[in-house]
Amino acid sequence: MSGRLAVIGLGPGDARYLTREAEDALASADAVYGYSAYLDRVPSRPGQARHGSDNREEPARAAAALRHAAEGANVAVVSGGDPGVFAMAAAVCEQIEAGPHGWRALDVQIVPGITAMLAVAARVGAPLGHDFCAISLSDNLKPWDLIERRLAAAAAAGFVIALYNPASRARPGQLGKALTLLRRHLPAATAIIFGRAVSRPDEQLTITTLEDAGRVPADMATLIIVGSRDTRVIYREGEAPLVYTPRAVAGAMA
Ligand code: SAH
Repeated sequence: MSGRLAVIGLGPGDARYLTREAEDALASADAVYGYSAYLDRVPSRPGQARHGSDNREEPARAAAALRHAAEGANVAVVSGGDPGVFAMAAAVCEQIEAGPHGWRALDVQIVPGITAMLAVAARVGAPLGHDFCAISLSDNLKPWDLIERRLAAAAAAGFVIALYNPASRARPGQLGKALTLLRRHLPAATAIIFGRAVSRPDEQLTITTLEDAGRVPADMATLIIVGSRDTRVIYREGEAPLVYTPRAVAGAMA
């Protein structure tokens, strides 16, 4: 089958974080599909069709892009950050597995991007310097009970935890519940970083502690990094603090 589908990571926002590979893939596409807010970041090109859709329509968007590619077109699907992290690359794979057999013959390329946790971590130091994991706090696609079990296991095992999708208008109370649970497994002084809209003009970074984290606002553009027992903060004169997790750790677990 001659059609091509590229699932492209746009990075966290700043155009300087777009890879050359992503730029090339965008430039050669006949059509671009994506959540409208991400599509707005892609410069429009003459002759290139654009199909914006709502954030919650990922399966339908993936299927539409695959149908289009199966007609022989060179189709791009865009994601914020990395397309393989809580994003469109898995949605496309799900549709290929469930869809018409012919979709398996398409040339599918996943173009990586800088994911939010890496962009936030780089702003504050090296909080992901040792073992870490990433958990989405959204219970749209999994039960809340599973999220709580994973948070407890990750905190108890000494992982630094990157929290994606920490809050939305539809889920205002879940971050508070998650923080309460984490306080049962980690010291009150554990470092926590809130990175909002990182690399965009309205970027905001807050370094706080587990004890005080409830006072920091969070929304869908926020990524939170919860330190482990090993994570440290270096306070500096005239410069922002550096948060890091040392490469050698003693193995502290709850
Ligand atoms: N594929 C994306 C993640 C999609 S889930 C990636 O790799 O980054 C959406 C979540 O990503 C948001 O709720 C937020 O937690 C995080 N996020 C995306 N862009 C961000 C940014 N610029 N600053 C902070 N967090 C961001």
